Amino acid sequence: MSDTNRKIIIAVDGFSSCGKSTFAKAIAARLGYIFIDTGAMYRAVTLYALENGAIVSGIVDEEAVCRLLDRIAITFRFNPARGASDIYVNGDLVEGKIRTIEVSNCVSRVSAIPAVRKKLVAMQQEMGRRRGVVMDGRDIGTVVFPDAELKLFMTADPKVRAQRRYDELTAKGQQVTLEEIECNVRARDEADMSRTISPLRQADDAVVLDNSRMTVDEQMEWFMKLFAERTKNE
Ligand code: C5P
Repeated sequence: MSDTNRKIIIAVDGFSSCGKSTFAKAIAARLGYIFIDTGAMYRAVTLYALENGAIVSGIVDEEAVCRLLDRIAITFRFNPARGASDIYVNGDLVEGKIRTIEVSNCVSRVSAIPAVRKKLVAMQQEMGRRRGVVMDGRDIGTVVFPDAELKLFMTADPKVRAQRRYDELTAKGQQVTLEEIECNVRARDEADMSRTISPLRQADDAVVLDNSRMTVDEQMEWFMKLFAERTKNE
């Protein structure tokens, strides 16, 4: 007998600042799935490294980051006001501190450290063990859940992405320029694609979504058709 309610894993990978988290969160809300933002986990480790002397003047001391790893306990707690989970490090709420330009400028170097990836990938696999999750990141469909039933690869024009991130940060009162944001977005894409361990790449069985000129509603309509097709024989 087929189980039409069988939950699946939806992997949402792609470039920086193309609205992966916003879209993944909307999909999860629509399907009653759990949304997991893996970028927030790499950002949380980066913040902790910045606050504990493992990154000084933008220089990442990889050995010092590794020594800190055992002292970092990452947890998520659902926040009904945001409709998503907030991230905590050692019980401290860090959600509001992980999206600064300072963290963005160091996170790709921290996320390229093998021990950091090993720890976070294991946590992500555990969180998705019961399926019914929408997980966004860079290596979800290739490394974390290569058996995910539905994989999206999101992309958008770098200028559109920089403008979106700029609007988001300035709305929160952060003092940034469009030029530095575009520079960060391009640098992170390059670093994420060229690292040796788990580089950002499209899984062979991923479906590409270029949302440069699509609203979230249009993306959702497109996605729900795809979801219905993929799950109709389950
Ligand atoms: O998704 P977000 O832009 O917040 O991710 C921040 C950074 O974390 C990325 O630029 C990338 O270096 C790293 N990351 C990663 N693997 C993931 C998610 C994020 O390496 N699965």
